[in-house]
Amino acid sequence: MMIGDTRDYAKLSQMVRSQKPLDVPPGQFILGAAQEGEDDGSQLSDDTQVCSCHNVTKGDVVEAVRSGTCKDLKGLKACTKAGTGCGGCVPLVQSILHKTLRDLGQEVSNHLCPHFARSRVDLYHIVAVKGLRTFDAVMREAGVRADSLGCEVCKPAVASILASTHNEHVLARPHRDLQDTNDRFLANIQRNGTFSVVPRIPGGEITPRQLITIGQVADRFGLYCKITGGQRIDLFGAKKQDLLAIWRELVDAGMESGHAYAKSLRTVKSCVGSSWCRFGVGDSVGMAIRVEERYKSLRAPHKLKGGVSGCVRECAEAQSKDFGLIATEKGYNIFVGGNAHGALDRGPAGRHRLPARGGRG
Ligand code: SF4
Repeated sequence: MMIGDTRDYAKLSQMVRSQKPLDVPPGQFILGAAQEGEDDGSQLSDDTQVCSCHNVTKGDVVEAVRSGTCKDLKGLKACTKAGTGCGGCVPLVQSILHKTLRDLGQEVSNHLCPHFARSRVDLYHIVAVKGLRTFDAVMREAGVRADSLGCEVCKPAVASILASTHNEHVLARPHRDLQDTNDRFLANIQRNGTFSVVPRIPGGEITPRQLITIGQVADRFGLYCKITGGQRIDLFGAKKQDLLAIWRELVDAGMESGHAYAKSLRTVKSCVGSSWCRFGVGDSVGMAIRVEERYKSLRAPHKLKGGVSGCVRECAEAQSKDFGLIATEKGYNIFVGGNAHGALDRGPAGRHRLPARGGRG
């Protein structure tokens, strides 16, 4: 099991499987390779498994590209299924794709779309450095044509960059039409075209009255209920025309959007902590609510999830979240960049201390 920077997983697991003698000192694998730039998979043998969900090897990927069947990541996913499971191998699969295309003499572009001859990262930096605040300003500054209206790829991408840079209201007039369906309907579109609705339940703490309201809403609109991993209640199967009435009833009962559809703070999960648990040394529910209330609505380049555990037994799995707090006798340890869903390529987790109360959390 690898924790933290997992980029070398495919290479290392292949070495273990093949049991061949190493041609570099083993310490290099612990301290990290001195290699700079993108890992394009050229060190991997063709029989190295790159997608463990669907058992796809590097050779399968290279062959699919060489045969001309797949020219981009979407096509590669369709014909090999690589990257369509957990998605953890997508960066490596994309690198192998680009390397193979370059070897075939083809040009590889990382441009966002035909309207921006820039990568998403470049656009992010341009928006931040030049302080651009609207889609039109970004198009004038960085677009291929200053008067272009954009497309369904660049509009939500730029909207997300603007939101995470300036955190203005995403449904304010200049930004509203750029948003994806989810942000416009405050609900998460599902496979069958219906929506799921998730009210915010900070710290998993909910009143009996709010529970009854959620039940009544689910009953009235025929919604399937599922308790999520983030300690909330997800209501599935909502029709678009019912969303306004559903939200009206939930808002009237004192609830608000949990942003379960947004690149934003989602939940801060917590265990019951010192209020109930005999092992607890910190008020994990109270801290989770404080953190969630403080950072809710914060937009980010990716969804954000946190956790707070009341002691080192870690029932809230704080170390596997994007950020987590674990109570100790002296305060909280903070963990950043946990190794779990969505955090595989963000590097090793770091730990810092925070005072128990009155701190910055
Ligand atoms: S993490 Fe500790 S305080 Fe929280 S529920 Fe588990 S044992 Fe109790």
